[in-house]
Amino acid sequence: MTCPLLFRFRSVDRLPELRSAAAARGTLVHSVLERLFDLPAEERLPAHAVDLLLPAWADLVAAEPDLGALVGDDPAGLDAWIAAAVPLVERYFTLEDPTRLEPADRELYVETRLASGLLLRGVVDRLDVSAGGDLRVVDYKTGRAPGEGFEASALFQLRFYALVLWRLRGVVPRRLQLVYLGSGEVLQYEPDEADLRATERKIQALWQAIQQAYDTGDWRARPSRLCDWCSHQALCPAFGGTPPPLPALDGPGEAETPADA
Ligand code: SF4
Repeated sequence: MTCPLLFRFRSVDRLPELRSAAAARGTLVHSVLERLFDLPAEERLPAHAVDLLLPAWADLVAAEPDLGALVGDDPAGLDAWIAAAVPLVERYFTLEDPTRLEPADRELYVETRLASGLLLRGVVDRLDVSAGGDLRVVDYKTGRAPGEGFEASALFQLRFYALVLWRLRGVVPRRLQLVYLGSGEVLQYEPDEADLRATERKIQALWQAIQQAYDTGDWRARPSRLCDWCSHQALCPAFGGTPPPLPALDGPGEAETPADA
């Protein structure tokens, strides 16, 4: 949706990408918010969440040692790195009260196949289920809330998850909720069946565009502000680069979560 050539580099060539400090900090904060709900409800307090930052970071670096380079070996660097994540964690508590929440699932992997055969899959940050069976899909963002006019594209990822959950469970999620820890805002939306059918049509159209690009080899560069964070500028024609030859392909088969795509 943002840049077909970037999709190619990531999903077809599968080129490695350097994780930015902002992206790594986002992963850290997500991990803390997931672990927070392992604590008894009355202990889900800001100070305890802040205490989770260091062990969560240690586990992330153990799983992905390259992340350690973002901090270096200097203990002061580690202190500064953790301190930079503290405001994001503390801001969470101004937006929700986790002592009153009991999520049904966290980091929930979901997958379904549409009638067309297209496989959709993704990971939902948090799923809440009310006593009456209503579903609330929650996603945390460590950036700022979108400006006016950009809410629909921000919500596309959650509509995607809502469609998958609808197909899996036969229930349209009652509420989609984006929690922006960067700006301290919450964006909520109540989808209906018509919304999710429109989302399915949009996903099918996107997939057709991807298949067409596979067939023609025409993956267009679409420069935007996103280029500032793109790891592949050296290979991008918009920056004077030349993409590598396409790898041998078996053809497209499945769609990843739009956040990844
Ligand atoms: S540099 Fe910009 S235009 Fe080029 S692939 Fe990356 S996001 Fe697309």
